[in-house]
Amino acid sequence: MLDFLGTKSRTHTCGQLRAADAGQSVTLMGWVNRRRDHGNLIFLDLRDRYGITQIVLDKELTPDGHAKAEQARPEYVLCAVGKVRLRGADAINPKMPTGEIEIAATELFILNDAKLAPFSPAEEAIANEEVRLKYRYLDLRRFEMQHNLEVRHKVAMAARRSLSARGFYEIETPFMTRSTPEGARDYLVPSRIHPAHFYALPQSPQLFKQILMVSGFDKYFQIVRCFRDEDLRADRQPEFTQIDLEMTFPSEETIFKVVESFLKAAFRAVGIPLHTPFDRITYDDAMRKYGIDKPDLRLPGLTDIRDAFTTEQMETLAIEPSLPVVAIRIPRVGEISRKERDENRPLFETKKGAKLLDDLKRLEKSFPECVAKVRDLSHFQPDDLLVIVAGDRDEYVRYLLGRSGTKFEGRLSEREIAVLSAAGNLRVELAKKYADRHGAFEATARAIAPASYWSGTDKIPVSRSLARQAFRPIWVTDFPMFEHDPETGSWQPAHHPFTSPHEEDMDRLVSDPASVRARYYDIAMNGLELGSGSIRIHRQDVQQQIFRALGMSDEEAKDRFGFFLEALQYGTPPHGGIALGLDRLVMILAGASSLREVIAFPKTAKAIDLMVDAPTPVSDAQLKELHIRPALRG
Ligand code: ASP
Repeated sequence: MLDFLGTKSRTHTCGQLRAADAGQSVTLMGWVNRRRDHGNLIFLDLRDRYGITQIVLDKELTPDGHAKAEQARPEYVLCAVGKVRLRGADAINPKMPTGEIEIAATELFILNDAKLAPFSPAEEAIANEEVRLKYRYLDLRRFEMQHNLEVRHKVAMAARRSLSARGFYEIETPFMTRSTPEGARDYLVPSRIHPAHFYALPQSPQLFKQILMVSGFDKYFQIVRCFRDEDLRADRQPEFTQIDLEMTFPSEETIFKVVESFLKAAFRAVGIPLHTPFDRITYDDAMRKYGIDKPDLRLPGLTDIRDAFTTEQMETLAIEPSLPVVAIRIPRVGEISRKERDENRPLFETKKGAKLLDDLKRLEKSFPECVAKVRDLSHFQPDDLLVIVAGDRDEYVRYLLGRSGTKFEGRLSEREIAVLSAAGNLRVELAKKYADRHGAFEATARAIAPASYWSGTDKIPVSRSLARQAFRPIWVTDFPMFEHDPETGSWQPAHHPFTSPHEEDMDRLVSDPASVRARYYDIAMNGLELGSGSIRIHRQDVQQQIFRALGMSDEEAKDRFGFFLEALQYGTPPHGGIALGLDRLVMILAGASSLREVIAFPKTAKAIDLMVDAPTPVSDAQLKELHIRPALRG
């Protein structure tokens, strides 16, 4: 028989009571986490969002309560009334914040029972993620998920407060709108009222936030859902959340300051003193030093070692002399076997016209001086893993020669980028593989670990120096304006087509698009891209020029973005902004292994919601109303 709640009301949460509360009469409510039956004594661990408290049912003290406790099973919902008392010295549990006390219950009520759960929320996550997602309500009861969503809430609130304090208005923009160009496919919503017409769900509020600047709102932000129908990739979500902002009359630095201050607040909210200002690097330098546009600064970058080789050596080794030659150094890996070296080889992408020299001992036999120089230049320590990446002369001829070179002094060519990014990817892969050995990621794990089991908000304070080691944010600036698509031979915007080119590069938009730099910036942290933004085009003539440079006819531009081109003609101020992925940010701060761990109700990698079972077919009648022919169903 279940009990009614009646007028009973909870006096404390299950994470609240401490030794100082001994003697108090209390009423607690929560779920049975564990039950231990010692005959006349039954121990129940009662759990809620805040923690776990031990309830003792003594048959002598409360025969009725004891009888109820005999029926109680894991995940039953109970109400316990009783007195707080200190535990005996040998029964103290130092791992639990409530571990010094227990409740000597005088009454117990069963508010609800529970079916035997497919897995226990009292345990670590089970390996079968599909079962976790199907029974998400049970999975979310687990400590780890409660912690992750707590981090998410705190981060979002801190960002909101910080932006609001700086004068940003949160303004909502529509979900049912028309296509926006963030490079993915749109999710479409058919219109019942207008046959064969569709709304698109926004890939981002890009055009709306720009129009809000035209409207004079000066500073806008929104913690907003975006929808992108992307090809299925492991860690993507069809709907995800951005901290999106836009402001008028900014320079890059204005935007960086705003973002640095809300990130600082968000990190502070989870007890981490983030150092500002962040490092800054241009895209070209990021490629030269890390071979990637979202560098992880917790490990050494690439070293330019071209000078270690003579022309003859390059010739013998079939290294293309006009391309970068770099060393990757991963500290403290120790001696690796030939077998391990072979296993590492598939981590290297040869397709990019690059070659890998991974046996330095062998190389040393033929070229001792060269290898000594390589070691010297890259600050090699005896236990480090050192490999060399260079342009493959033969591949270069076959593959790379077809790529565009750039005529712009001091900029990287596509061919150079290809070799550097092969090195950059290998560096990332080796860093992942040898994480246990180099230990560079440990500081991050230490800084984000919750203090103890179900500890609520208390956290071991993170020192400034630990925080500086653990989190390495960096602004990457001056991206190229266009990316070349070798398949179609056309130029695509590296960001989106509303990004302003550098004024000095404008005259090369058509003559040498590869050399045009964009006022486009990314924020990266620990090897993850956290967000992207840009200073926008605010002049209609420039916007039209960019559309043309992208191969879009005036007709097409008008058709897709006519409303926006029109708005640009009514006094548009210079403006710019950025959007940061909230899910990613929370993933970093919760130490989660995937986006699904920080979203309450995520979709699988195949874009399915296993709990509600979506998407589903709909009835023919519904389709008919939407003017869609059922025959189109797959
Ligand atoms: N709308 C852009 C994006 O979603 C961000 C921005 O440029 O502000 O990537």
